[in-house]
Amino acid sequence: MLETAHAFIDRAAEKLNIPTDVVAQLKQPNHEHVFEVQLDNGKSFKAFRVQHNNKLGPYKGGIRYHQNVTLEEVQTLATLMSLKTAAVGLPLGGGKGGITVNPRELSATELEELSRKYARHLTPHIGPDKDVPAPDVNTNGQIIDWMVEEYESITGESNKASFTGKSIAKGGSLGRDAATGRGGVLALAELLSLEDNLEKPLTYAVQGFGNVGSFFASTAQNMYPQWKLVAASDSEVAVHNAEGLDAKALQKFKEDGGRFKNYESDTEKITNDALLALDVDVLILAGLEDSVTDKNVSTVRAKHVVELANGPITDKALDAFADAGVTVLPDVIANAGGVIVSYLEWCQNVAGEHWTVEKVNDELAKYMKPAVKSTYEAAKEHGTDLKSAAFIIALKRLTA
Ligand code: NAD
Repeated sequence: MLETAHAFIDRAAEKLNIPTDVVAQLKQPNHEHVFEVQLDNGKSFKAFRVQHNNKLGPYKGGIRYHQNVTLEEVQTLATLMSLKTAAVGLPLGGGKGGITVNPRELSATELEELSRKYARHLTPHIGPDKDVPAPDVNTNGQIIDWMVEEYESITGESNKASFTGKSIAKGGSLGRDAATGRGGVLALAELLSLEDNLEKPLTYAVQGFGNVGSFFASTAQNMYPQWKLVAASDSEVAVHNAEGLDAKALQKFKEDGGRFKNYESDTEKITNDALLALDVDVLILAGLEDSVTDKNVSTVRAKHVVELANGPITDKALDAFADAGVTVLPDVIANAGGVIVSYLEWCQNVAGEHWTVEKVNDELAKYMKPAVKSTYEAAKEHGTDLKSAAFIIALKRLTA
């Protein structure tokens, strides 16, 4: 993973003629905190916080709880955060945290103790102007609320700007749940607008109808009714109807814990492989990493592909798409809605304000639209695909 991230940096650095020693320095995280969190019952877990780059502002990035978390994974994700915040023009740096734990194997009290002790250990190294962590895989508003309590009990601070992704009652932002999906809609709309395609009707399919994929589709249904959702999948199966699916009904079904294999409506069930190969205008990848590889890339018929998940297309498949004239809206831009609204939460906390969801959504658009436009223009200027263009923009800002 780290090698792939570095390969993208190398490619962009070559286009900009950035000296190799500067590139080497850019790859190197500023600080790595590697420690053990020990619970009162003796159980012990490996914990990490990698603070990659803070040239543009405080380190920013989530904390992941997963049994497969390693230092290398956290280093990679921290590096990608530095590039993402830079690419979309946020005054933030990049960081990431994690604990090697399967949270489903912990009791509620163990989970709380683990989270509080993790925050206590990191308190001297984080804070509103230093490093602002957030939730990630298997962490949520409750876990972040515990961490904020620990941080504030030690430091005496009380503005809640030390973490984002808090519950609304504890200073979280409205609009955060939908932010990544909504950001994806804004990004795609801006791209289509730059190509003079926005007014045209289009069909699309969503691989991975979870938080991000379902908010993408329900937001699109409100904002762009000319976009027709024809298929959506979970990890087991896809539902398909060429006449169109009701995104909001599907979202409600999933939020209520439904599995598409049991979805009883006017749809046919197809495999995830068949979804990827549908004759649609746009393919939205919102499931897992490495969904499109050199093995299945040639089956994709869409002319636009959106990386709403992190890294759903391998390097080789990205090259194949470029050769085939398929436009890929890259993850660092397409799914940046989440970190943008995290930043907006931080702004609200620092100013002691609570914004309406309309204000949050307006501010999100103010970051997302120019980010897509400058990426599109950089791709034209440098003769590259959009992913390389986003990395070029990020590197320019990080090395200016
Ligand atoms: P989620 O768990 O809510 O949803 C993931 C969905 O993908 C689920 O419906 C799952 O069934 C489906 N899925 C899993 N394996 C699949 C497979 N092999 N084929 C098809 N579908 C599959 O997760 P999420 O929060 O929606 O995140 C999705 C992706 O977006 C992840 O890559 C995540 O890192 C990235 N992302 C999320 C956010 C955020 O704000 N949640 C922000 C940036 C990036």
